[in-house]
Amino acid sequence: MRKTLPAHGLDRATVDAALASMKADDAPWRQGRTPAYMFGATPEAEDVVKHAYMAFFSENALGAKRAFPSLRRMEQDVVDMALGLFNAPDEACGNMTTGGTESIVLAVKTCRDWTRANRPVHGRPNIVAPLSLHPAFDKAADLMDLEVRRIDLRPDYRADARAMDAAIDGSTMMIVGSAPCFPHGVIDPIAELGAIAEARDLWLHVDACVGGYLAPFVRRAGYPIPDFDFSVPGVRSMSADLHKFGWAAKPASTVFYRSEAYREHQKFDHAEWSSGRFVTETLVGTRPGGAVAAAWALLNHLGEDGYTEIAGRLMRMTKAYIADIAAIDGLEIVGSPDISVISYRARDLDILAVGERMSAKGWLVNATRLPPALHMMMSLLHEDARETYVADLRAAVAAVRQAGTAATMTATY
Ligand SMILES: *Cc1c(COP(=O)(O)O)cnc(C)c1O
Repeated sequence: MRKTLPAHGLDRATVDAALASMKADDAPWRQGRTPAYMFGATPEAEDVVKHAYMAFFSENALGAKRAFPSLRRMEQDVVDMALGLFNAPDEACGNMTTGGTESIVLAVKTCRDWTRANRPVHGRPNIVAPLSLHPAFDKAADLMDLEVRRIDLRPDYRADARAMDAAIDGSTMMIVGSAPCFPHGVIDPIAELGAIAEARDLWLHVDACVGGYLAPFVRRAGYPIPDFDFSVPGVRSMSADLHKFGWAAKPASTVFYRSEAYREHQKFDHAEWSSGRFVTETLVGTRPGGAVAAAWALLNHLGEDGYTEIAGRLMRMTKAYIADIAAIDGLEIVGSPDISVISYRARDLDILAVGERMSAKGWLVNATRLPPALHMMMSLLHEDARETYVADLRAAVAAVRQAGTAATMTATY
C-alpha cells in the first residue's frame, strides 16, 4: 500500500523512535559485518568528520563561487592537497564531486569533448579497458552513446596492457586502468598503459576511486605500491573517492586533470535560460557543503602521518585476515591484493555455498563472478571482527564440504 503523508505532523519523539526502530533492521556495519558500503577509520576521525559536516550542514556548495568563499577555499585546498599526493605537475587541476560515478562521468565527458576538438575519431568513440573496470564507465558510455571494450585480464588479475593495445582502433578515445580495481584489489600496470597512451596520443584515465586515498599511505607505511598516478607521464585524468578509504563523509570524490587544457572541456556553460547564464564546473547542481567541510577537516586533522598510521594498521589487519583465510583448507586468496580490498575462492568446493552459510550467520556477503569468489573491502571497522569471521568461515567451509551443497546465490553488488 502506498504510504500517505500524515495529515497531522508527528511529534519529534515519535519520529525519532520510528527512525531508531527502522535502523535496528540494518546490517550491523559497526561490528564489521558489511564487506562494502561502509568505511571506517578511528572514532576520533569519525568525530572530526561529523563535527565539520554539521558546521556546514546547511550550506550549498553550488553557491561556493558566489555565496560561500569558505567552501570555495576548502574545495581548492582539498584538490591541492590531493594533487600533491598524486604527484601532479604544477599545471594540474581538479574538482570535488559527489562520488566516483560523478568523477568518472565527468572524466569520460571531458575526454569525449577534448577528443572531438583536438583528435577526432571515426564513428562511435570507444574506451578500451580491463574486464575489472567499474561499471560507472558503462553508465557514462550509456549516457553518451560510447562503446566500452572490456579486455580479459592477465592471470594475476591485472590489466593485460598488450591485449588492450591490440584492441585499440581508429575510434578509440580513452584507455583506462584501475588503482586498484574493485573486484580483486590489485593495481593495474599503469606505467605500461601510460607508455601505450603516449605512443598513440590517447587519453589514459586512472580510476583510483576505491584506493586513491589509501595507496599512497600504504606505500609510506612500507608496503610496495607500483606507480599509479600523475608520476606516470601518460596519465591525463584520475578519479579518487574521499568517501571510501579517504575516511571522509559521503558524498565526496575528486576528479583531476594533468592540465587546464583538458579540464576546460569539463565545464557546462549555458546562456539561453530565461534566468540567464548557467555555469557549473561539475555534473550536479546543489550539493552539500558539509561533505566539503568534512573532507577538508579530516585531511588537515590527520595529515600525512595520521593517514599513514591508519594505513599501516589496516594493512597489518589485512595481512592477518589473508593469513587466516589462506590457512583454511581449500581456500586461497585471488591474486595479490595491493590494499585492503581482497577476495578468496575455493579450490575444491562451491565458494558461493560457503557465502550462503556466512550470510546465515549474519555476515553480509559480497561475491565476484570471475572467478567465483567472496569479496571484502576492509577498513578498521573489521579489526575486532576477525576472529569471529574466521571461525565462522572455517565452520562454513567444513559444513559445505560435508554437505556437498551448491549455491543458489549469484554475484551482485
Ligand atoms: C566505488 C567505485 C566507483 C564508483 O564510486 P561511487 O562513489 O560508488 O559512485 C568507481 N570505481 C571504483 C574502482 C570504485 O571502487
